[in-house]
Amino acid sequence: MADKSAIEWTDATWSPVTGCDPISAGCKHCYAKREVEIRWSKNPKSEWFGRPFNDVRCHPEKLAGARSPLAWKRPRRIFVCPRADLFHEAVPFEFIAAVFAVMATANRHTYQVLTKRPYRMGEFFRWLEKRSAGANARYMSSYDYQAGVRARQKLRDEGKPSLDEPSPPTEIVRALYDIGAPAVNAVMDPSARFHHLRSLGQCHWMKWPLKHVWLGVSVEDQATADKRIPLLLQTPAAVRWVSAEPLLGPVDLGFGDQLGDDDDSSVGCYPCDSGGRRHEHYISETCGRGIDWVVVGGESGPKARPMQGDWARGLRDQCAAAGVPFLFKQWGEWIDADQADNEAKDALWRNRSHFEMRDAGLIANIPPKPPGPPHYACNYTIRIGKKAAGRLLDGVLHDEYPEVLP
Ligand code: SF4
Repeated sequence: MADKSAIEWTDATWSPVTGCDPISAGCKHCYAKREVEIRWSKNPKSEWFGRPFNDVRCHPEKLAGARSPLAWKRPRRIFVCPRADLFHEAVPFEFIAAVFAVMATANRHTYQVLTKRPYRMGEFFRWLEKRSAGANARYMSSYDYQAGVRARQKLRDEGKPSLDEPSPPTEIVRALYDIGAPAVNAVMDPSARFHHLRSLGQCHWMKWPLKHVWLGVSVEDQATADKRIPLLLQTPAAVRWVSAEPLLGPVDLGFGDQLGDDDDSSVGCYPCDSGGRRHEHYISETCGRGIDWVVVGGESGPKARPMQGDWARGLRDQCAAAGVPFLFKQWGEWIDADQADNEAKDALWRNRSHFEMRDAGLIANIPPKPPGPPHYACNYTIRIGKKAAGRLLDGVLHDEYPEVLP
């Protein structure tokens, strides 16, 4: 567990699983793979020593003890599995349940889980549902926690009788512990085990889905958004989020009232479902259902691909229209020329071997320096490095986080 993280949207990382393999274009220059291959696999002190990145391993020893969130007293935002995908096919469901049991117990923290394999995330929750006899299926498949809280709050604000709070699906939390706790206890200090077991006895008050666990998908373009976001929306989560990084193309989150007629569609807006029609959007101001947080970033690293400012602006504007928190993480190595500060551009101009530009979709080395003072057309994307590019979009720092409802 790393108590500090350079990732803008988190405080710490926890790696109960390490290793992964590429699944889509967004993985092409995977920073974790690069880091492992260049650095960690050559370090005899590292758990990566001699391992290829695609060697997926579960680490039960990190479920308890000093490297577990159970031992971490001060509340933190924790990015789970920064060098892996928790829902990778090689990770057994029993181990994922153990990871969730730890997250359920150490509930002073907020956990940020990100996957490119939401189909397997869905399979895990369906498997858990089957293992929890008598579980309330409403919570498992379609219940939207945030929308439910908002609906009850709205009724209260209007002075109308509030809907009864649905009873917590104790069976699911119990199943989670029944399956996951043995792996945690096996590595737990006996003196600490008592406390853990006491927590097990108290699981009846825990709500499902766990409100301090944020589940998200990583997307890079429209195709991956259309494939992964609908699956995320079918997954029980108190907070659902999308990380569009590295952003490689525009993404339309379908904001607006594009009503679909497909009654059987499993993708949709359940709170608005009473008319028998479902919205085919991922975020909306009209129903409050959908994605709760969007993070956008360009690619970094030696072979980084450029992100166009308009792609980021498109997501920023959709989030603003829908009232969804938006965080602009970084430009990455590249930045629209009109967004870079003059100092950085002048430095590049003086050393034009590093000056590349993208115009009309092409990436090319800039031709020999033309005579006269430098000029920068705004339709160029220039490579100035992640640090110099920074994280301002149109001069504004976007640093919003989802509201966590009680
Ligand atoms: S899913 Fe994530 S960790 Fe796995 S290869 Fe792709 S970018 Fe890397």
